[in-house]
Amino acid sequence: MQQNDPDITLITQDAPVSVANHGGRAKCLQRLVRLDLPVPVTVALSFDEVHRIATGETPEVARILAPFASEQLLCVRPSSEDPDWGGPGAVLNIGMNDARLEALGKRIGEKAAARLYVKFIQSYSTHVARLDPDIFDDLDMNAPNVVAQFLEAYEDEAEEPFPQERGQQLVGVLRSMARAWEGTTARLLRMAKGAPADAGLGLVVQSMVLGVGQGECGSGVLQLVNGDSGLPQITGRYLSQSQGRDALQTGAEALYLERDARGASLEEEAPEAFEQLKTHAAVMRIKLREEMQCEFAIDSGEVHILDGVRVQRTARAAVRIAVSLANDGIIPREEAVMRIEPRALNELLHRQIDPNTKRDVVGAGVAASPGAASGKIVFTAAEAQASAARGEACVLVRRETNPEDIRGMHAASAALTERGGITSHAAVIARGLGLPCVVGASQMRFQTRKRRLVAPDGRVFREGDVITVDGTNGQILAGEAPMVEAALDDAFQSLMNWADDVRDIDVRANADTPDDARTALNFKAQGIGLCRTEHMFFEADRLTAIREMIFADGSEDRRAALQQILPLQRNSIAELFRIMEGRPVCVRLFDPPLHEFLPTDRAGLRDLAEALNLPLSDVTRRVEALGEYNPMLGMRGVRLGITVPEIYDMQARAIFEAMLMVTEDGAPIMPEIMIPLVSAKREVELVKTRIDAVAAAVRTEKGRDFDYRLGVMVETPRAALRAEDIAPHCDFFSFGTNDLTQMTYGLSRDDAGRFMSPYVQQGVFPEDPFHTLDREGVGELLRLGAERGRKARPELTLSVCGEHGGSPESIAFCREIGMNYVSCSPFRVPVARLAAAQFAIQDKIS
Ligand code: PEP
Ligand code: MG
Repeated sequence: MQQNDPDITLITQDAPVSVANHGGRAKCLQRLVRLDLPVPVTVALSFDEVHRIATGETPEVARILAPFASEQLLCVRPSSEDPDWGGPGAVLNIGMNDARLEALGKRIGEKAAARLYVKFIQSYSTHVARLDPDIFDDLDMNAPNVVAQFLEAYEDEAEEPFPQERGQQLVGVLRSMARAWEGTTARLLRMAKGAPADAGLGLVVQSMVLGVGQGECGSGVLQLVNGDSGLPQITGRYLSQSQGRDALQTGAEALYLERDARGASLEEEAPEAFEQLKTHAAVMRIKLREEMQCEFAIDSGEVHILDGVRVQRTARAAVRIAVSLANDGIIPREEAVMRIEPRALNELLHRQIDPNTKRDVVGAGVAASPGAASGKIVFTAAEAQASAARGEACVLVRRETNPEDIRGMHAASAALTERGGITSHAAVIARGLGLPCVVGASQMRFQTRKRRLVAPDGRVFREGDVITVDGTNGQILAGEAPMVEAALDDAFQSLMNWADDVRDIDVRANADTPDDARTALNFKAQGIGLCRTEHMFFEADRLTAIREMIFADGSEDRRAALQQILPLQRNSIAELFRIMEGRPVCVRLFDPPLHEFLPTDRAGLRDLAEALNLPLSDVTRRVEALGEYNPMLGMRGVRLGITVPEIYDMQARAIFEAMLMVTEDGAPIMPEIMIPLVSAKREVELVKTRIDAVAAAVRTEKGRDFDYRLGVMVETPRAALRAEDIAPHCDFFSFGTNDLTQMTYGLSRDDAGRFMSPYVQQGVFPEDPFHTLDREGVGELLRLGAERGRKARPELTLSVCGEHGGSPESIAFCREIGMNYVSCSPFRVPVARLAAAQFAIQDKIS
């Protein structure tokens, strides 16, 4: 009868039980039944049934109880669709009453029976009758009349006798669990874990295996792998004369499972039961295609499997488990690839704070670059370098960073800023370096002049004090936190290779320096999609030359100044070509406004006047003249290329000469040159004409022929809209979604962090658009740009090289609109590779 009613069903091999209607636990129990494992009799209640109970309907107790012997004790456990959504705690020993106390006392001893009864009274009292748990505080558990005392305490408080009838007890338990699930706090909690607001709860009613009595009795949990490493290791605990998860309580006198030098083990105490358990667990692994933790009870030496749950695991363990299941032929490789959440790889790619650490959080901001590091606070880039020279780890704390801080960031172990969002300077550079970074920590007071950092709780941190920056979740911690190391082990490499086998969109890296390029290659980037050449100018030896160029009077002087930079630029680019061994390298021409290269304080101006041998007043006046109200919308990118063409001439020459140098003895290279901030086709025509002229000159001078590919960064809305005009003049488009987002929203990428939280909290924006690509607005421009560009030039190569290139959602969109590749910070390359593979597999499946 019960098998035909999905709302109240005995779990048998072919009962109508499903995850969507009865939850994961019920379904798992059915799978265990199908495997012929010794599972106690269990009845599943559907989400609908439990919901009706929550709204006050009385369940049909007789039907629920039908499969159980009349004296059988029961337990009820929650069964939500996804076990991670939690649920009310299990209630054990339902059916204990005065009569059972007596009967059980004869079988398992009076004391043990009394303990079960008392535990049930306590649990019923708190969970069902909702009495204050401390009413039992003063009672003596060892008193001969302990049960009478507990019953009396219950009756005094509840003003009614303790229910003796099993059916009545069961109704109370079912109702309280159903209502607990529908309460607001529980709902909010599970929604925070990703559950929908109307997620259902199923319940399972199961025969109790007592775990208490004569012979070997007890309970425990067992799994075949270590949840931290994912390596094979029988772990878990067993406690004689216990129930539920007692064995896992700290301080419990639990046994190890396998023989263990630290103490007694189940293997020694009950070898047969141990062998059976191992066999059951191995069957579960193969048949459920997952590493399971099995909850078991032993009753007079006989093993029962009460439940199976997915082994809790770190990201590192998740990768190893998925790979070993595939290697053992239990799941296909593509399924292993699908099982890993791409962002979870961040946990493997960077050092992280040990998850078992108690955190002393003193501030928070935007999690701008994952990983964690501790160090002494320094407030300037120079101090960071000095600290690194002393071999001391430091955290660079700045209101915001600017290009002059790059060397400081290289020297620091982590960076923390008061201002900025996910695409601010500090964030972009930190991600490139793999440096843990938190930006926009605006609730902390950055008193950089006083060299103090004040936490919202008033704690003051001075220069030299140690803090920890957790760039994975945006927290700042006092002191040094224990860390776990990055883990690019063999399992990780296997998983990534399998991902690459199915991936259908290329992944390149944004890399400016040899270190970036090496990291990119290490993470198997297929090339460099964006080399921001301006970063090559911030080295001290180049800064003076570029400043001379800025101050030059006329084209000839400018050329002369740039001549000093040419060999440095050529060598830097050649180094990238060498490291990338023939893979494509896309070099972007100079982009930032020139004033970024000029000093801002008086001392700097004085130094500059000295270096250039000019009067201070002259230097000050010219620096002021270069100032702009809106530098990000001003004289930068291709606008500089048109008005100060000598810079791009020098860069084009450096690229061609570097390529010729490297290809003399190596594989051929097709250099890619990219023009930033284009908004009109004429800009491309003008720049192209000059670069062609440089190429022709280099060909003649060197007596060697070569080709190159010219591309346009589509990062102004106009470039996207006029893509059809622009495409005929170039070979590729790379969408710069950082600037494109900034310009589409009219939202400063450097300042938006200040109001982004309230904007997202109030639902104005679903997410920070600098973080997650805005499909509707910015995405529409990408789509239009791609369509119009390809209409004019079908073979046009398309890509995204803004920060979005590394985010899984954006990659899905890029695939949809037919992009050839995405390019992102080197440390995000593995995440991008895995996400791209998963989308390809999903497409294959559907
Ligand atoms: C962009 O704007 O998306 C981009 C990649 O360039 P940058 O971040 O250097 O402005
Ligand atoms: Mg840009």
